[in-house]
Amino acid sequence: MDKLVRNILAELRAGNDLDAKALDRIVRERSAEEHDGRRVYAKKRILPYYLSKRAEHGALWKSWAVDEDLDERFVKTLQMKPRRTASGVATITVITKPWPCRNNCVYCPNDPRMPKSYLSNEPACQRAERNRFHPYLQVASRLRTLEQMGHDTDKIELIVLGGTWLDYPEAYRIWFTFELFKALNDSPESRMSALSNPDRIVAQGEPMRDIADLESQHAINEKAAHRVVGLVFETRPDTVSTDALRHLRHLGCTKVQLGVQSIRQKLLIANGRRESVDTIRNALKLTRLFGFKIHAHFMVNLLGATPDSDKADYRSFVTDPAFVPDEVKLYPCALVDDTALVRYYRIGGWKPYSEEQLIDVLSSNLLDTPPFMRISRMIRDISAGDILVGNRKTNLRQLVEMHVRGLGSPVHEIRYREIGTQDVEMGALSLDEVAYETDGTSERFLQWVTTDYRIAGFLRLSLPHGDAVAEYGDAIPIRGSEAMIREVHVYGFATKISRDGESAQHRGLGKALVMRACEIARQAGYARINVISAVGVRTYYRKLGFVDNGLYQTRDLTD
Ligand code: SF4
Repeated sequence: MDKLVRNILAELRAGNDLDAKALDRIVRERSAEEHDGRRVYAKKRILPYYLSKRAEHGALWKSWAVDEDLDERFVKTLQMKPRRTASGVATITVITKPWPCRNNCVYCPNDPRMPKSYLSNEPACQRAERNRFHPYLQVASRLRTLEQMGHDTDKIELIVLGGTWLDYPEAYRIWFTFELFKALNDSPESRMSALSNPDRIVAQGEPMRDIADLESQHAINEKAAHRVVGLVFETRPDTVSTDALRHLRHLGCTKVQLGVQSIRQKLLIANGRRESVDTIRNALKLTRLFGFKIHAHFMVNLLGATPDSDKADYRSFVTDPAFVPDEVKLYPCALVDDTALVRYYRIGGWKPYSEEQLIDVLSSNLLDTPPFMRISRMIRDISAGDILVGNRKTNLRQLVEMHVRGLGSPVHEIRYREIGTQDVEMGALSLDEVAYETDGTSERFLQWVTTDYRIAGFLRLSLPHGDAVAEYGDAIPIRGSEAMIREVHVYGFATKISRDGESAQHRGLGKALVMRACEIARQAGYARINVISAVGVRTYYRKLGFVDNGLYQTRDLTD
């Protein structure tokens, strides 16, 4: 392996950029030389080997004579899945312990080993089960994997899934979140020790923690090596209330995933969902007024739906001011064993759309999605083996995008336009502003775009309507005179917090967005502006003149 690493370094030193084919050639040549071709080096082992020598074997590392530039090129060349951090942050998804749900939706799986609606074959669930659903162990093991794959992990988005977060006891929620932060704050040695002796960690149970304990972990995380730049919880619309949202903010939450699924009352009832369309409207309005980003789940092909009703409902969902979420997970309904939907399927009451119908519906959805909205996925991560009937194609999104390209219609949705890992010509970027209305706020979506409308960064600014805020009185922690920055995102590889990257991050794009948001809010007559900052970016906002102010950071706009 040592010689193989030296060969790759030599090629890079000679100025050759190595694509997958060139790398394969070197690996094959080296394997042929050392093992007569009988054994081939596994490419996925090269980077972990290199990183372990860099960390632990000073003499060998020195003998390779690697400078900073070469080191960076080597790591980039060997990264297995560079897109995983192409959106600017490394994501860690964790799953809460098995838990029931008060609803019993007809399509929802019942796997007693998992929280309701999850199946043990889903990748994140397998990781959770291996780590016995312990938050510390899940974070520590995922972090180790990401590092072994060569990703920068200084900026982390934590996504907590497991059906309905707000159905779990409050004590569990605080303990769970405390452990998430602790795992990121602890030393690599502590994490390694926990992973090598998980029984010891699990045996500690779930000791009582309070918000003060959690806040002390938050404070540590502000300067930690792995900072939380986003914290997401998944819940049902009927659990949303002013108290619940305050609690989520105390935990450090910045984004809420809401299981909406449908905005047609008839379909909600037919599919066993107990919340009404009014409940969904109120949940979205309140969550947005609190400043959270809203990531909504929406299903097509539900029991009782038709391709036409799905197209019409989605169009309303993304244009009616009562809804307009920021992100959407589009889930085509699939038939899973041991669900009530199986009965309907057997008697002909439900059947899956054909592939052609599904692509037609999703293409219409994609084309209807406005430029300030992101479709994060188009399928659920259920393994093909668990799907009795319905879509099993994991590349469904690609098929939909191909179809849409064939139609020649423009796609405005964010994910389609993301620059990903591309380098950005700063001079070619311009700041575009999109205004839209919601129940309760006037929204401004500010986006850095290239000449061909690719997106390099964006900011979501909410200008709350005074009457909507007044409706909630003191139950809501903002005033009608306060604007809210709900999200700032700049694309590019997850570059190190302390050093400049080559891509769009750290070139002042974020700061320029924030300054423009302040200007817009001031001109609109707002006296102050809040930002719903994640714990790990508080220091960034302090540098931009924001001060800590309870659940948010705030800047005066009157000076
Ligand atoms: S609300 Fe969600 S978790 Fe509960 S039964 Fe319905 S789909 Fe499943």
